[in-house]
Amino acid sequence: MIDKSELSEWYHRILKDAKIVDSRYPVKGMLVYRRWGLFIIRKIQRELEKMLEESGHEPMLFPVAIPENVLKKETRHIAGFEDEVFWITHAGRNELDVKLALRPTSETPIYEMFKLWIRSHRDLPFKMHQSCAVYRYETKHTRPLIRGREFLWNEGHSAHESEESAKKNILEIKEIYGKLINEVLCLPFIINERPEWDRFPGADNTYAIDTIMPDGRTLQIATIHNLGQNFSRVFDIKFETEKGTHEFVYQTSYGPSFGRLLASVICIHGDDNGLILPPRIAPLQVIIIPILFKESENEKIIEYSKEIEVKLREMGIRTEIDMSEDHPGAKFYHWEMMGVPVRIEIGPREVEGKTMKIVRRDTKEKFHINIDEIDRIGNIFNEISRNLRERAEREFKKRIFEAKNIDEIRRFIGRGIIETGWCGKRKCIEEIEEIGDVLSINNKEAMCVVCRERGREIRIAKSY
Ligand SMILES: [Zn+2]
Repeated sequence: MIDKSELSEWYHRILKDAKIVDSRYPVKGMLVYRRWGLFIIRKIQRELEKMLEESGHEPMLFPVAIPENVLKKETRHIAGFEDEVFWITHAGRNELDVKLALRPTSETPIYEMFKLWIRSHRDLPFKMHQSCAVYRYETKHTRPLIRGREFLWNEGHSAHESEESAKKNILEIKEIYGKLINEVLCLPFIINERPEWDRFPGADNTYAIDTIMPDGRTLQIATIHNLGQNFSRVFDIKFETEKGTHEFVYQTSYGPSFGRLLASVICIHGDDNGLILPPRIAPLQVIIIPILFKESENEKIIEYSKEIEVKLREMGIRTEIDMSEDHPGAKFYHWEMMGVPVRIEIGPREVEGKTMKIVRRDTKEKFHINIDEIDRIGNIFNEISRNLRERAEREFKKRIFEAKNIDEIRRFIGRGIIETGWCGKRKCIEEIEEIGDVLSINNKEAMCVVCRERGREIRIAKSY
């Protein structure tokens, strides 16, 4: 048992014990992804890539190195990243003529190629995606999977004939990310349009997908940017219209962080016994535990366990039998910690009655089903997913607060998202930002929490 109310300690313990990642690699902020963590990330990646490709994104993989002159083409963009770029300056003993950056994000190299590929309106909309590692020299406190100097993500990029087409793509991406986060990962989220001063460097609008961690701080898990024609003008990405004129394309770019998605799954669903994984991403979905204690019956128990394992595997379910020498209690404890959604216990009684004892990881509920009802496992997975989703959603709703004055903001800050009001004046927001981070400025009218003048609703929180 590990006390989850001490979230940071609990989190580090789970990362280690469940073989998620190891942060002791000798480069600060760079992780070794271990078996359990890597499996989950790859699963999330495949689910996302499938949806992106169904919506017309071409899969690609760009080089990690970006020439300095390409990275620096968009001035606002580079200004936003300059302090975080890792540079390759030498090759062997020679200094390079053109320094190479390790990609902190890939707008610039990708749009350098868009210029060569896009010719006519028939090429549009053009959409691509890649899953890769990006590099940022973070100076803030690093935290495994949450803030690192190398992290894994998927980035999507698109080019369109018109602003409407670009906006339509943003809606589609919001839907795809929403499906991934809510349906696959069973996590609640909120979309916040970031204030002007917190936009992606070079974007006209930035929409962030935020969730709330159990310690009350928000975590940005994905962003979607409307780039307008800012990059196409600089990179000279033009197309020939039907009328024969030449216009700059409209662009969008977007990406979720696989590490942050995984960190949210771990922290939001887990409990004092360890991980609780949604069945769709669990490396093992069912663990079968033979309860062996009488020589004369053991052979039959093992044989029957194998029969169940074969049936489950035929159904496409990721299953294993734990044949280790450990005591059953130790096995239960271990697989609970690893977050396996369903445990099946097989003893003499189950062999006799052709049944199996099912134990759900999320509710600890125990019940028997007959072997000829084994396809009920699929329904049990759906029930587990629904329960995880609803449970997390209830917690999320409890963490949305409304504040009518500064004292209330001080009272609620750090416990979730606070909705309040701001008039638009700088001195008022400075006072608010001393307490928390502004997640969004909404269209709804609200009275300024500082000066009491009319203004708009804002959302604030302590964020990771
Ligand atoms: Zn004010």
